[in-house]
Amino acid sequence: MELTYQCPKCGGNDIYFAKRQRIVGLGGIYGNRGKMVDTPLCKVCSEIANPMATSSEIKEAKAWAKIVAPLVKPFANPIFQNRIFQSAFLLAVLAIAFFWPA
Ligand SMILES: [Zn+2]
Repeated sequence: MELTYQCPKCGGNDIYFAKRQRIVGLGGIYGNRGKMVDTPLCKVCSEIANPMATSSEIKEAKAWAKIVAPLVKPFANPIFQNRIFQSAFLLAVLAIAFFWPA
């Protein structure tokens, strides 16, 4: 996976990596722990850049959405949801009736 970064301030994609301290642990008997982490920074305003999906990744995600959408669609239907709920309820009642110690 190829990663692109975008500056939240100027929207630029021109970044460089530099070691920046980041807090990795909070509190405890050792107190806060800082760790030097390679951080993407904007070349223009040295703001910390955010990782961003590339256009090919967006395309891939859209292709997946196309495949998955018809499979999940019935679950958005309230009648279908109701039917699932009803059959689950019926199954539960049957299971209890069957396994209940007489
Ligand atoms: Zn910037």
